[in-house]
Amino acid sequence: MTTPRILDGNAIATQIKAEVAAEVKELAVQGIRPGLSAVLVGHVPASEIYVRSKVRTCEELGLYSDLITPPDTITTEEMLELVAQLNAREDIDGILIQLPLPKQVNAKLLLEAVSPAKDVDGFHPVNVGRIQSGQPALAPCTPAGMIEMLKRSGIPIAGQNAVVIGRSDIVGKPISILLLQQNATVTICHSKTRDLPSFTRNADILVAAIGRPGYVTPEMVKPGSTILDVGINRITTREDFDKYFAGNTRREETFLLKGSTLVGDVHPEAFKLAGAYTPVPGGVGPLTIAMLMSNTVRAAKLRRGLTL
Ligand code: NAD
Repeated sequence: MTTPRILDGNAIATQIKAEVAAEVKELAVQGIRPGLSAVLVGHVPASEIYVRSKVRTCEELGLYSDLITPPDTITTEEMLELVAQLNAREDIDGILIQLPLPKQVNAKLLLEAVSPAKDVDGFHPVNVGRIQSGQPALAPCTPAGMIEMLKRSGIPIAGQNAVVIGRSDIVGKPISILLLQQNATVTICHSKTRDLPSFTRNADILVAAIGRPGYVTPEMVKPGSTILDVGINRITTREDFDKYFAGNTRREETFLLKGSTLVGDVHPEAFKLAGAYTPVPGGVGPLTIAMLMSNTVRAAKLRRGLTL
């Protein structure tokens, strides 16, 4: 058995970000500076970390960014008013509403209020429909990043059996459509799928987007396949650590230092059978922000009728 190839998300994200920075420079010559507005409601620590890193990346790449931080008492009506203002702003090309939102805010209504032209998360039904029908659109960042990962790593997609575990609107469904557009033969599995291993064992490309630590085990994997692990699960107990990482001294150092570590939806033992795989962390994760930047530049161009 050959050693599996590790698909390095950080390296590919760096590449994409360099390309975005170059495009931002080209647009600057025409007097255009793509701008992203991030709306962060209340104080959810994980959201604060994500949004800060998105804003910081904008600054690094030369995009304009604007952080709006309403209190967690904000109403749906007030949020709708805020979105309407952002939709109308000429200096803003992308609007990002960080989820989760407080309970009293109707998230669905709000995401549909974002102008599809500025919907850099690709969640608006208009963009979902356009992607489905193969028209120019803004695709959700994580799935779009996964396609970039496969293409830039020279992994063929056309004609391959792709099996996606998970059917969420954010990952499972859109990655299935994007893989189909690349001419893969796509099977979507989910919590009601009977005999999951009978599908996954046939996967040349296996996408795990479940949200359950180490759920994909070695007997579910086709030897030599490509595994994209989207799951991000934090483990904090010694028992869990030993379940996934027994004998992994490098991981153990981090675990002891931080008191936790991340594991994907794929058991590390299952990766050993793969031809190539995305590690957790450092696989699919870093691509999300890179694609958000890329989508913001894309939105700036699409909105002005510039060629992509
Ligand atoms: P979700 O909870 O919305 O969806 C999970 C899906 O898994 C569901 O469609 C469900 O049908 C399926 N599922 C659940 N149990 C199953 C089972 N036993 N067998 C088969 N299918 C099962 O989650 P999501 O938003 O799609 O996220 C999935 C994971 O990806 C999470 O760990 C999340 O943190 C991570 N994630 C990472 C990124 C990133 O790397 N940037 C982005 C989004 C999500």
